[in-house]
Amino acid sequence: MSSLFEKDARYISNTYARFPVEIVRGEGSLAYDSRDKRYIDMGAGIGVNIFGYADKEWQNAVINQLRKVQHTSNLFYTCPDAELAEMLCIRTGLKKVFFCNSGAEANECAIKAARKYGQNKRGNDCFNIITLYNSFHGRTLTTLAATGQDHYHELFQPLTPGFLYSHPNNFNEMKSLMENDNVAAVMLECVQGEGGVFPLEKEFLQRVADYAKQRDILVIIDEVQSGNGRSGALYSYMNYGIQPDLVTTAKGLGGGLPIGACLFGDKVETIFQKGDNGSTFGGNPVCCAGAVNILSRITEELLVEVQEKSDFIFNSLSNVKGITSISGMGLMVGFETSKPAIEVVNKCISDGVLCLTAEHNRIRLLPALNIPMDLLSNAIEIIKYNCL
Ligand SMILES: *Cc1c(COP(=O)(O)O)cnc(C)c1O
Repeated sequence: MSSLFEKDARYISNTYARFPVEIVRGEGSLAYDSRDKRYIDMGAGIGVNIFGYADKEWQNAVINQLRKVQHTSNLFYTCPDAELAEMLCIRTGLKKVFFCNSGAEANECAIKAARKYGQNKRGNDCFNIITLYNSFHGRTLTTLAATGQDHYHELFQPLTPGFLYSHPNNFNEMKSLMENDNVAAVMLECVQGEGGVFPLEKEFLQRVADYAKQRDILVIIDEVQSGNGRSGALYSYMNYGIQPDLVTTAKGLGGGLPIGACLFGDKVETIFQKGDNGSTFGGNPVCCAGAVNILSRITEELLVEVQEKSDFIFNSLSNVKGITSISGMGLMVGFETSKPAIEVVNKCISDGVLCLTAEHNRIRLLPALNIPMDLLSNAIEIIKYNCL
């Protein structure tokens, strides 16, 4: 065992089941371990490294800002956060942005905004938020409560109250919960990522959004994983023809640096007043300068490329022995394997391909959006072989 693995086992909190690989450097969609073994990265740090490792343009944006100012706190103005917020608003039609540092925090912000809106409109009891079974919204006590998977809840009772759960794609169940006057919002992932990469049916989401509008219930879309080009649209809700009231994002937005954002639509544009929320690091100029670069490169052209690569993956993995189902959207793909998924992932690692697992014995692929076709095609061949 290397001394790193020993040190990690001794000093790092036991929360992570790591693969026995030390990544020491990377370039684009290739990662290299401490023995200089090469891996094609089909996980991109859980969908974070949108343009892969050591991307030059992004590095330059980050380093230029790092040389000027690394942090000021939100007591002062810096330029990159306002520039990023403007880009996000122009491209989504949403009106304002709150920056934080992670997906869970972005969701906390949206939940706070929904509670304040509900209480303003319909009184103190209007704080409930409906989420879906099999969802994932984060690890804080409140976002765990929002996460509709019992096994995440067991150890940490009591969780934040005020969450109701409904099954994906069952509009009647959702509608009966929405008829409750004490519901402030529904909160959904258009594509359940950690839950197995299951896109919601278009008709279901459109009906929920219509009914929510009718009842003045806010629609919160969690784009933490599906956002920033991954779905083949800038944000996955754009594939559904709906306009959410609150959108949260994180993971890919920073291209590898920690950043989260909550975007506010017309109804909630002014819901927060000074002092209602805050974050020491939120809007950090280095993270925002990197994110401005990332977002400016998620162009229509790139999105077409994402869709072409997605079609390639779906075609290659459909009707393959050892793969029992495949689902997803854009470069967010999940498939169920006949063998235990973790066994396939371990074999792929031996063969130089990094991929992720998800709930329901599924393998999850979230490659960099600019992964070259030859690497993608090599990785898919190795994955197919290991599913047999
Ligand atoms: C990863 C994820 C989160 C949590 O993000 P963190 O940055 O780990 O807090 C929330 N929602 C979704 C959909 C995610 O995939």
